[in-house]
Amino acid sequence: MKDYYATLGVSKDASSDEIKKAYRKLALQYHPDKNPGDKAAEERFKEINEAYAVLSDPDKRANYDRYGTEAPQMGGFPGGGFGDIFDLFEQVFGFRSPTAQRSSAPRGEDLEAVVELTLEEAFSGKEAEVTYHRLVPCESCAGSGGKRETCPACRGRGVQEQIQQSFFGTMRTQVPCATCRGRGYRITETCPTCKGQGRKERQEKISVSIPAGIDENQLLRVSGMGNINLGGPGDLFVRIHLQPHPHLEREGPNLFYRLRLGLAQATLGARVEIPGIDGPVPLDIPPGTEHGEIFEMDGKGMPYPGRRGRGSLRVVTEIAVPKQLSKKARQLLEEYAKEVGEEVHPEGFWDRLKRVFKS
Ligand SMILES: [Zn+2]
Ligand SMILES: [Zn+2]
Repeated sequence: MKDYYATLGVSKDASSDEIKKAYRKLALQYHPDKNPGDKAAEERFKEINEAYAVLSDPDKRANYDRYGTEAPQMGGFPGGGFGDIFDLFEQVFGFRSPTAQRSSAPRGEDLEAVVELTLEEAFSGKEAEVTYHRLVPCESCAGSGGKRETCPACRGRGVQEQIQQSFFGTMRTQVPCATCRGRGYRITETCPTCKGQGRKERQEKISVSIPAGIDENQLLRVSGMGNINLGGPGDLFVRIHLQPHPHLEREGPNLFYRLRLGLAQATLGARVEIPGIDGPVPLDIPPGTEHGEIFEMDGKGMPYPGRRGRGSLRVVTEIAVPKQLSKKARQLLEEYAKEVGEEVHPEGFWDRLKRVFKS
C-alpha cells in the first residue's frame, strides 16, 4: 500500500492547508517542465499528484485512512494518463504547462503509403519520392475546430462522477462526460474552414531512403509524418511492393533463373551467360546436364539488408526440345539415333499418316 502522507512529507493528522502547502512545494520542484527528460522526476511528480488527489478530497482521504484506498472500488478512469495529473496542478496553480497540453491531447494517427520498386531498385536501394495525404491542424482555428467553451457539465474535466448504490454501499466511479464526450470543452461556433473537424487534408511529398536488399511487404517507418493532431504527429509507414521481374524470381536473399538448354548443350556441355541482377554472369554447364539441375552461384543474389554479403543466384536447367528442325538437322539427328540405337519415326512419317486418313 502506498503511503500518501509520506509521499507528501506530512503527518497523518495534517490539516488540509498543510497538505496543500506540501503539494505546492513538491509539485513545483518535480514538475516535468522544470526537469525535462528526467524520468525519475516525472515519476515523482505523478506520485505527488496521486497522493494529493486523494488527500485533498475529504471523502477520499477518509476512505484511504480507513481502508487504505481512496474508494471502495476504483472505477475506470478514461484518459487517466498524464493529462489528468496536470489538471490537478492547474486547479491549484491556475495555469497549464506546455507539457500538459502536449501530453493530454491525442496524438495523430499512423498512416501507410506504398512504394513500388523494380527488382533492380530493391537490389541497389534508392531515394524514393512518396506522395500521400495526411491530416494537419486547420490553420483557421489552430486545430480547435472553432470557438471553444469549457464544458459546463464537467467544468472542463472531461469526466463525471457516478454514484451507484450496491451491496457494498455507495460506489463512486468516473465516466467520460456525456455532454462533451470526454473532451472537456464544447464548440460554440464551428470553424467554416474545417467544419469543426479541427484538421484538414494536405498533400505531402517526401523523400524516403530505401535500403538495398529490401523485400516485398517490408515496412519503413518515417517518424512524425503521419496525421498531425494537437498531441503531436503519428508516423508514416512505407510499404514496399516489388514489381515482377521479367526473368528473375526472388525468395528472400536468393534469386532464381530458369536456363533453357538445347539438346546438344545439355549433352556436350557449354559455357553460357546468365543475366544476373547486376550484369551477366558466366556459367559452365558440364556435359550430361539433366533437366531440373540447380547450379548455385554464391554471392550473386540480393544483398542482405543492413549487412555485408549477398545471397545466391540459383540457376535451374530446362532442356529445350526442338519443335521444328531443318532438313539437315533432322538428317543428323536420325543418324545420331541410328548410331546410339534409338528407334525413331522415319522421315515424313506424320505427313504419310495424314495422307492415309484423308483418303
Ligand atoms: Zn463535459
Ligand atoms: Zn478549422
